Amino acid sequence: AAKEAGRNQVRFFDASLRALAVDRARIEAELRHAIARDELSLHFQPKLDCRTLEPRGVEALLRWVHPTDGAIAPSRFIPVAEQSGQMAALGSAVLRMAIRQMRVWQDAGTPRRVAVNVSPVQLEQPGLVQEVLETLAAHGVAADWLELEITESMLMSTRTPTLARIERLRAAGVHVSIDDFGTGFSNLSQLARLPSDVLKMDRSLLEGIGSNPKAEAILQATVRMAHALGHRVVAEGIETEAQHAFLDGIGCDLVQGFLFARPMPAAEVDAWHRARAAAAPAQAA
Ligand code: C2E
Ligand code: MG
Ligand code: MG
Ligand code: MG
Repeated sequence: AAKEAGRNQVRFFDASLRALAVDRARIEAELRHAIARDELSLHFQPKLDCRTLEPRGVEALLRWVHPTDGAIAPSRFIPVAEQSGQMAALGSAVLRMAIRQMRVWQDAGTPRRVAVNVSPVQLEQPGLVQEVLETLAAHGVAADWLELEITESMLMSTRTPTLARIERLRAAGVHVSIDDFGTGFSNLSQLARLPSDVLKMDRSLLEGIGSNPKAEAILQATVRMAHALGHRVVAEGIETEAQHAFLDGIGCDLVQGFLFARPMPAAEVDAWHRARAAAAPAQAA
């Protein structure tokens, strides 16, 4: 019976692997049309000052709504795009959409800093720096309003040409943040050399707040180290008041999470800002 169960398990595993492969193949094929069919859009999630809760910009998050399959999560299609040679085109589309929206906010008198996630694949492209700077220039948006989020694992493993590209973007005024910090294997001396301004602590680090003193000690040490290295610190994925209170206590600079606001279409972000300004005129920003 044990043997039989084992065999069934193998069969089940095999079937789900096949389903996964079909899924990938389908996503890969459908993604090729997504840009042309206008199925992609950006949502924006506010970041706030940890102490005052003043709005301090937004993160752009890609959304794909397929006409028959509905919403498909970035965690499903971004890896497929990266492995099927489509990430450069997808990344370009994201940059264009984000910078176009920055221009709209600028024209409305409500300029906002927008953080755009950048895939390692994009950073491998020699033309990335020029593309970013030309897109900003074409829309009349200053580089200082743009931030690029690059994952910790990417920055740590990165080769010299990629680091040089990031340095050129920074020299032009673009901000750079280390995304998902705490999920990789950073060595501290490497961190000191990274061309970045902001460190984003990953949501997984917040899980021990209130229950695990060691996890809390790690968060506190991370904030102190990041500040000593001249970085601002963002905590992402905050869902509870207790997490917010703890992060405020250890001097975290910015917060982002469902507790404050979900990722939303641009128009809803504007409504969110208006509602906050009406509720607390002194904090309007
Ligand atoms: P990320 O850059 O770390 O983005 C944060 C993710 O956490 C987002 O998921 C966001 O919706 C989610 N989040 C924010 N606050 C909370 C919270 O309080 N609780 C929970 N449970 N989740 C929260 P999303 O939009 O599904 O994106 C997932 C990942 O996909 C992103 O992680 C990023 O790595 C990637 N991604 C999204 N858009 C883009 C893009 O335009 N380009 C690239 N290269 N990657 C993207
Ligand atoms: Mg991000
Ligand atoms: Mg992140
Ligand atoms: Mg993350």
